[in-house]
Amino acid sequence: MRARWQECFAEASDVLKSDKHQQTVVRVLDLEIGGRDFITMAGPCSVETEQQLLSTAHHVRRGGARILRGGAFKPRSSPYAFQGHGLAGLKMLAAARAETGLAIVTEVMSEDDVPLVAEYADILQIGSRSMENYTLLEAAARSGRPILLKRGMMATVGDLLKSAQIVLANGNPNVILCERGIRTFDATLRNTFDVAAIALLKQICHLPVIADPSHACGHRELVPALARIGVAAGADGLIVEVHPTPEKAWSDGEQSLDFSEFDEMMASLEPYIALRGPARVATRTLETVG
Ligand code: PEP
Ligand code: MN
Repeated sequence: MRARWQECFAEASDVLKSDKHQQTVVRVLDLEIGGRDFITMAGPCSVETEQQLLSTAHHVRRGGARILRGGAFKPRSSPYAFQGHGLAGLKMLAAARAETGLAIVTEVMSEDDVPLVAEYADILQIGSRSMENYTLLEAAARSGRPILLKRGMMATVGDLLKSAQIVLANGNPNVILCERGIRTFDATLRNTFDVAAIALLKQICHLPVIADPSHACGHRELVPALARIGVAAGADGLIVEVHPTPEKAWSDGEQSLDFSEFDEMMASLEPYIALRGPARVATRTLETVG
């Protein structure tokens, strides 16, 4: 790695590639995130009802997703918006895992909730708004669960790496970084997808990197193109919002794919995923629940 990057990210030196450590592989159930698998995490923005979650889980699994996303604790900018079902939502996620075999990723917003969320989730999501909540990062790290660390919407790549370093320093090497778009002068889209950050992170950092094309743009018609760009830039996986009826979603419906849009996106990703080399898990359909 060029000395320039080492200098630039000196405060996060443990997450930088070295001769001894080129790549971290995060193991979740039988999956290897950051390894040769390409991992798709898909599901609704919020866990709403059992029916909504289960139908989405079965559909995305058939389409090649291996991890189910869904918020039980939702960071909403309005106090009047749906805040998530909390524990009831976690239970619905666990039921979906039992029925489909999908692993679960869900957000934890408060350090007080870490033990509860860690009991139900396979991966703890630290949301964009929490990336610099250092006490939350420490508590989440100590839970021992893998951490999906989303880039703060106003955070630099260096800030993201420093937050990752905090998780490592608290004894947890299993961090997955996520580029989900940042705020820029151009407010046409919800965020600006910083695809160069994915390419840079893949070059300098040994942690797996995934792309979130949903929050990166905020419009479902752009999500498949951003997903393809993310894969082409070197992402190890995707996290994408899918809903049975996006127009009725309780949160982020505008950017959620419906089932057939998800299938089309997954099919369109295949040539890009194939360029990464042979994968054990890509968009292949599992026949049996494992
Ligand atoms: C989400 O994944 O639904 C979410 C709230 O993401 P972010 O933290 O990136 O805004
Ligand atoms: Mn969302």
